[in-house]
Amino acid sequence: MPSFVEVAVNLPQISETYHYHLPDELEGHVQVGSLVIVPFGHQRVQGVILGFVQIPEVAQTRPVEELLDEKPALTPSQLALAQWMAEETLSPLGTCIGLMLPPGLGQRTDTLVSLNRDEEIDQNALAPLEKRIVRLLQQRGDLRARQIDAHLRHVTWRGTLKKLSRAGIVSTRSVLPEPRVGPKMVRKVALAIPPDNIPLLEVPLSRVERVHVRRLGVLTFLANQSGLMKPGEIYIQTGANYGDLKALEATNLIEYRRVQVWRDPLADRTFIPKDFPQLTRDQTHAWHQIAARIADSLGGQATQPILLHGVTGSGKTELYLRAVKTVLEAGRRAIILVPEISLTPQTVQRFLSRFPGKVGVVHSQLSEGERYDTWRRVRRGELPVLIGPRSALFMPQENLGLIVVDECHHDSYDQQESQPYYRGVKTAVASARLSGAVILLGSATPRVTQYYQAVHGSWTHIELPRRILAHRDAIALHAQRLGMSLPVKAGEGQTADLGLPEVSVVDMRQELQAGNRSILSRELHAAIEEVLERGQQAILFLNRRGSATYIFCRDCGYVVRCPRDDKPLTYHRSENGLLCHTCGYRRQVPVTCPQCGGRRIRQLGTGTEKVEQVLHELFPRAKSLRWDAETTRKKGAHQRILGSFSHQEADILIGTQMLAKGLDLPLVTLVGVILADIGLNLPDFRATERTFQVLTQVAGRAGRSPLGGRVVLQTYMPGHYAISAAARHDFNAFYQQEMVYRRDLGYPPFTCLVRLEYRHYDAAKAEDSARRMAEQLSALIDEVSPQTEMIGPVPCFFSRLSGQYRWQIILRGPNPADMLRALRFPDWIVEVDPSSLL
Ligand code: ADP
Repeated sequence: MPSFVEVAVNLPQISETYHYHLPDELEGHVQVGSLVIVPFGHQRVQGVILGFVQIPEVAQTRPVEELLDEKPALTPSQLALAQWMAEETLSPLGTCIGLMLPPGLGQRTDTLVSLNRDEEIDQNALAPLEKRIVRLLQQRGDLRARQIDAHLRHVTWRGTLKKLSRAGIVSTRSVLPEPRVGPKMVRKVALAIPPDNIPLLEVPLSRVERVHVRRLGVLTFLANQSGLMKPGEIYIQTGANYGDLKALEATNLIEYRRVQVWRDPLADRTFIPKDFPQLTRDQTHAWHQIAARIADSLGGQATQPILLHGVTGSGKTELYLRAVKTVLEAGRRAIILVPEISLTPQTVQRFLSRFPGKVGVVHSQLSEGERYDTWRRVRRGELPVLIGPRSALFMPQENLGLIVVDECHHDSYDQQESQPYYRGVKTAVASARLSGAVILLGSATPRVTQYYQAVHGSWTHIELPRRILAHRDAIALHAQRLGMSLPVKAGEGQTADLGLPEVSVVDMRQELQAGNRSILSRELHAAIEEVLERGQQAILFLNRRGSATYIFCRDCGYVVRCPRDDKPLTYHRSENGLLCHTCGYRRQVPVTCPQCGGRRIRQLGTGTEKVEQVLHELFPRAKSLRWDAETTRKKGAHQRILGSFSHQEADILIGTQMLAKGLDLPLVTLVGVILADIGLNLPDFRATERTFQVLTQVAGRAGRSPLGGRVVLQTYMPGHYAISAAARHDFNAFYQQEMVYRRDLGYPPFTCLVRLEYRHYDAAKAEDSARRMAEQLSALIDEVSPQTEMIGPVPCFFSRLSGQYRWQIILRGPNPADMLRALRFPDWIVEVDPSSLL
């Protein structure tokens, strides 16, 4: 009797799994996780073996047709994770498995042809083409189909090969090609002796020849650098040549090291410490707890996630690096998630320089081939430290000992564009649990749901209360570049203490009253002027989300809200009306302010272009750069803009998303937030939280050098807790107040949500489908889940997307996903734990 297997086919929208049998030649080769080709209807499709079954569910099974690779494509923990995700996100298993396979894997397979040596081959019985193939294999040994193609150009030989195979003369099997690319490596030079030993060399160099002076110059130059140097830089700086370096290497005074490089716009501008520094007291305290968890986990104990909560510059990354080191020493591997690779060059570089040759970087700009190669190298265990965005979580990193999620509050971890709609942090936590790894979540501004888990739930909570801000050598480097003496307070060990930047909150209502109608307050205007005079740099930040969408009074700050559920109403230009996106309430735009009677009731909104234009008028000589969705559309644009700004080709950077962590731009001494309130009034339960996070992160951008720095927050709502807490860098104050609102209004963590969205090009059809679904759901709630509440149907806040009308229904309750589990909604987007309701 053949073996039977359960297969998940790799087709979207197919949730069921199917049973097949193994033909004789595959018996013993197929394993759980193997990638295979199976017949499916009239197609041949890719699938993954989920397991073996005793008795198939159908009488007549079809055979597995091909095994694509001897090695399973999915590790057992990946399979378990895919199954967990399918259950958790109410998505077809195939789409979850699809996340774990590199795109185009099936098309990549090649056929390996070998001669069956033990068969007696009667050459005379062979047709001419058969003879050619056999002879080729006799001469060359096993060949891949692509190699045979190269030998038998313009010959159709595949049919002939099939005949040979049927006759038992050759055998064929599918193989995956070898990866082609490795990481980019360059050779750099380091001093091989302690710097203090250099002067001693003058003794044997008493015959002062020019060569010796040059070489001594190289050693002195290297001794004064904080990192490894490229040979080219040494030639330029010292006048030495290739022969000099070779001679110094031969006498063991310098050494060449191969280091992995990453395209970094800030390279040579920033100091990347390459050794593990001595930890500060706070870090040591945190480290003891982390190390204890790692030890538990290495000993086979299950551990709970650790939330590492500390402001930017408090030393979290140093702890990640140490945790990685510890698990590597124990022979395990690590995955490091960062929000977006192109925005975190310094973090990537730190991992590369600490773990040379061991780091793999996954990012969105990899070509299909590069992605495949990385996937293969990870599967072979060649990249024990893997850094990337959320997709890195799905790489076949076996023997996983550690997952780090840096900036764990970040929205980019949540997949919202396509199925499966998953939450990255939750998935990372599940992945750690399934593979017995420790998970370390770091943020200065965790989501309140995450913080709640850490203080009330089972997570471990570690606080890093103080800013380290910088390695002392980094500040020395900046000071040297800026031509300053060093007015820096030394911190503990090798750290330098710069303190937090001063934040001032400017009330824009008073500006208006004082007759200033500009988008720049007098204070921000003066601050920009000062920066320009001193030849320093400024960042002006504009929160793009939700601009120009709500109506408020410019005299008193009053925002027009829904009388039923207190959400800000959204302005719709098309009908010049206001709409509540929670309950559907509509009204006209008021002519006078209902609160103060003022007549300046307007919609709010300013774009980056507008800011640029205003700056140009006010400061015609200043150069500005825009960094927003529009200017970063092209490949490599982030690097270009950031590089150009850090090389001082512009004075002012106007941006919407430069919130990446760790951007160390020492000349930036001013951060201005054009309007802190934007985003605050979006009809979404996470709107306040997002605004707080963004403001706190932006405020951390200033004052990262001996030049110091300040932040100016402009707002119409200076009293709002999100704004005042961000201005004081006070997470706790924000959290306490936010939790009061979440509890009162019944939002997570006090309830769970499911969002169902329907899209259609025809407005009436979209509405109609949404209403019918709501009726069904409402009946279902009455029947099986009376504690669930339904909100909607209503048009979504962004009511049209790519020409389609969007409607949504929100379910809220202790576990609203449960009642949907057995159902299928093929035309709907169903999001469990939505991270946005817009
Ligand atoms: P975070 O990840 O919290 O933003 P980092 O780990 O990046 O913090 O630390 C901020 C800066 O301080 C970095 O420049 C880092 O090199 C430096 N630093 C961190 N820990 C130490 C330490 N123990 N000794 C010296 N410098 C340190």
